[in-house]
Amino acid sequence: MVKKNQLYEGKAKKIYATDDSDVYWVEYKDDATAFNGQKRGSIIGKGEVNNQLSALLFEYLENNNIPTHFLELVNEREMLVKSVKIIPIEVVVRNIVAGGMASRLGLEEGTVLKTPVIEYYYKSDEFGDPMINDDHIRELNLATPEQLQEIKNLALKIDQLLQKIFDEKGFILVDFKLEFGVHKGQVILADEISPDTARIWDKQSKEKMDKDRFRQDLGGVEAAYQEVLRRFKGGRAVS
Ligand code: UDP
Repeated sequence: MVKKNQLYEGKAKKIYATDDSDVYWVEYKDDATAFNGQKRGSIIGKGEVNNQLSALLFEYLENNNIPTHFLELVNEREMLVKSVKIIPIEVVVRNIVAGGMASRLGLEEGTVLKTPVIEYYYKSDEFGDPMINDDHIRELNLATPEQLQEIKNLALKIDQLLQKIFDEKGFILVDFKLEFGVHKGQVILADEISPDTARIWDKQSKEKMDKDRFRQDLGGVEAAYQEVLRRFKGGRAVS
C-alpha cells in the first residue's frame, strides 16, 4: 500500500489517499482542541493511544458483527481504513449524565440514565455543530430515513458492546460520539473511538480518564490516556 496525497486534515487526524481507491490512510495527531476549537493544545502520545485503542475497539466490534471502516494498523500512529463518504452527523450516546447534557438540562453529572440517550449533532463548523433531530436530518438530506434507522440500531448495539468491554477493563463508559460513513452503499462505523471522543471513568475511583482532563485543566492528561490503552493492551485478548 502506498501513501499518496493528503485528502483532509481535521483537528485530530490527517487522511491520505492510497494507490487503492477503496482505502484511506489515517494518521492520528497529538493536537487537542476543545470548546469548538477555542482551547488548543497538545497531548503528547495521544495519536498513538487513539490509533491503537481505536484499532482494538474496531476489531472487537467487527468480531461482534458491527461493520467498521478499520482494515489494519500500519504502525503505532497510523491505520488503513475503508474509504467512506462521511455522513455529517455526530451521533452521541449517553449512559450517564455529563458534559453538555448536565449543563443544558441542569442534571447532576454522574446521574445514571434509565436507558441510553442518543443525540444527533450536525457536523458544521459554520453553524457550530448544532443539536438536530430526525426531522432536521430529513430536511437537510443528511441521511435517508433507512440510513438513520440503521445508524440508531448500530449505535445502540455498539453501546452495549462497548459498555461490556470497558467494564471488563475496570472503566465506566459514560458517553461517546460516533461517526458513520457510506462504503459501497453500506453504512459502516468510521472515525475513531478514543479518550478524545468518549468519557471514560475509572470504575473504583470514578477518576476521569479522558479528554475532560484537558478540557477542565485537571492535569495528568497524558498519563490517563496511556493508562486506558495499557489496560486494553495488557488485558485478555479482545474477542
Ligand atoms: N464529543 C466529541 N466531539 C465533539 C463533541 C463531543 O467527540 O465535537 C464527545 C465527548 O467527548 C463526549 C460526548 O461526545 O464523550 C458527549 O459530549 P457533550 O455533548 O457532553 O459535549 P461537550 O459539552 O463535552 O462538548
